Amino acid sequence: MRSILSSLTAALTAALLLLAPGAGQAQTLQDVAKALGADTVKSLEIQGIGASFLVGQSVLPGQPWPQFNIKSLTLLMNYETGSLREEAIRVRALEPPRGGGAYARGDLRQIVALSGDHAWNVVADAPVPAPIAVTDRQFQLWSTPQGVVKAALAGQGTMQGRTIAIAVPGRFKATATVGASNLIERVDATVANAVLGDMVVTVTYADYKDFGGVKFPTRIRQTSGGFPSVDLTVTEVRANVPADVPVPDIVRQTPNPYARVASQKVADGVFYIAGGSHHSVAIEMQDHVIVAEAPLNEARALAVLAEVRTLVPGKPIRYVIVSHHHFDHSGGVRTFAGEGITLVTHEANKAFFERVIAAPATVNPDHLAKSGRKATVEGVRDKRVLSDGTRTVEIYSIPGSLHADDLVMAYLPREKFLIEADAYTPPAPNAEPMTPPNPFTVNLVENIGKQKLAVDQILPLHGRVVPVADLHKAAGQSH
Ligand SMILES: [Zn+2]
Repeated sequence: MRSILSSLTAALTAALLLLAPGAGQAQTLQDVAKALGADTVKSLEIQGIGASFLVGQSVLPGQPWPQFNIKSLTLLMNYETGSLREEAIRVRALEPPRGGGAYARGDLRQIVALSGDHAWNVVADAPVPAPIAVTDRQFQLWSTPQGVVKAALAGQGTMQGRTIAIAVPGRFKATATVGASNLIERVDATVANAVLGDMVVTVTYADYKDFGGVKFPTRIRQTSGGFPSVDLTVTEVRANVPADVPVPDIVRQTPNPYARVASQKVADGVFYIAGGSHHSVAIEMQDHVIVAEAPLNEARALAVLAEVRTLVPGKPIRYVIVSHHHFDHSGGVRTFAGEGITLVTHEANKAFFERVIAAPATVNPDHLAKSGRKATVEGVRDKRVLSDGTRTVEIYSIPGSLHADDLVMAYLPREKFLIEADAYTPPAPNAEPMTPPNPFTVNLVENIGKQKLAVDQILPLHGRVVPVADLHKAAGQSH
């Protein structure tokens, strides 16, 4: 009798042990938090070197994002306030460059920040609001191993088996895979993107090390939209350092800089729509309107559409000319497509933009997703002329540019205006020209010459309207 009881007890004990948390499978978020040392972490400071890639700035759709080598990086993350500050020194992997991003030579010192729903960059010691970056930076913060667990423990997610699902509505949803030793091995996410709708992002975490009780991966690799976006080797991690990232007043006071438009009539029926970092041009035709460029994001696109309809009431916008596929210049394309407006862009982009305007946006259902409308994409190989018999708009490809292989420019022969993006951006008045000159600008001048365009004024999609003499000066030509 006694021996039966004791063997029963032994069997029960063994069964209970099998059910106990921590034996074999991860059972709870707390187990993962404990393994990562996340339960005691309020902030992390990470240092590293490696590479980062400019998402949305490839030479052509379907090509990798341009690479920058990271000489140094310090990333401060505060999980209690939902903020981060990243300071990095990067240098382009290729010189001369291939692909987008501001043209600069040598080391680039970049400071970016997030706090809650505010994002900004620090440029020449001054904060510049960058709400367009809030989603990506919130993802950066909450997709870190400690971030995933903290988000889930704070009610933003759940754990099932070896998967932790977290989401920030309207911004991203992600599932983290918990591997051996209860450490997070990878994150698979869908991140809202102005151009792509739902953008697929993956992050892998490897080679965890113990940094004073906090386990953190020393190798982080990320892909965004199918191509590498981060490849970081972490060299140092410090937990619970002071991590105050106060929101500057200018950032708090400028929640939507993209809605600000300032338009200028540059000729009869031609309007330069500025007011922010990326401009558009509206061209009034006999019974419709052509807009050059739908940049940045939906907020900008809606503001530009409203402005054009105020400037030229009663005429439908029929075409939008898209200068190239770089995401900062095409972030409003989906919005224009949601109005049924036809895209005109380089032939090499036709298939890409057809996919873009057919893509779902489930994380952040945008104007296009909600409109149920369809638009078409028309390609330009070398030249395309839009004319109604009274006004002519000529669209030319800009071959040979190192900035992108799909650049187009628009020329208005009657007004002698040239509309272009990123090939030439006027520097501040009285600034010394870059020497040697920017190769994108030299290429533009060559292409204007090849097409024998009698340009009088440049309407650049960054900067300000300038006489063509300014372009020649920037290209290193004196006349
Ligand atoms: Zn560009």
